[in-house]
Amino acid sequence: MDINARGTAGTYFLSGVHLVKTVSVTNALEPNQGIVALDVEGVLIPEIWIAVAEHTGIADLKRTTREEPDYDKLMVGRLEILRTHGLTMSLIEQVISELKPLAGAKEFLDSIRSKYQVILLSDTFEQFARPFMRQLGMPTVFCHRLIVKGDVIEDYELRQVNQKQRAVEAFRSLNYRVVAAGDSYNDTTMLAAATKGYLFRAPKNVIAEFPEYPAFTTYQELEGAIDAVLGK
Ligand SMILES: [Mg+2]
Repeated sequence: MDINARGTAGTYFLSGVHLVKTVSVTNALEPNQGIVALDVEGVLIPEIWIAVAEHTGIADLKRTTREEPDYDKLMVGRLEILRTHGLTMSLIEQVISELKPLAGAKEFLDSIRSKYQVILLSDTFEQFARPFMRQLGMPTVFCHRLIVKGDVIEDYELRQVNQKQRAVEAFRSLNYRVVAAGDSYNDTTMLAAATKGYLFRAPKNVIAEFPEYPAFTTYQELEGAIDAVLGK
């Protein structure tokens, strides 16, 4: 059979008795679809450890990634404080259950989720994140986990070191444009990896150290910036 005689573009081959046309498949020449990657604590929900510090009156727990760039040092210190004061998982769960997302966070998230794929990238733990995710309509969140034995938080396990940056790089390798936003030191490598990165409600020291990222304080400004990049 002379299939070329049909004069139709495409590649044909015979499969059993069926004539099958394959379509020429190539990647988009440039990434045109968008993903929003958002930090969680300080952007959508309060800093959990600060809330625990306030609830328990232990000021040493107020130190966060906003002040301490070394996450492991920060977490080892926190676990030591929990041990010293005998703070249990159930006590921390009780504190978290009383917390609400930041004012306007749910509306902002709902609005951007109606337009784009949104993935939350957090260095918190799934045990801490769960109650908030329920309040936020169960968005997808990538985070770490605590190792809990009985009611004791024994240790923590990073799923992957520098996971925020690695996730953004992975999305870009999947041919997505990525807008990322966060408030702390642990967000700056994902902001660098993104198509466009923004600081949101970042402390002065982070804004001063990373002037290359526009810094916003309202959800309206951030959504406007996201639309300007992805809304084409
Ligand atoms: Mg944060």
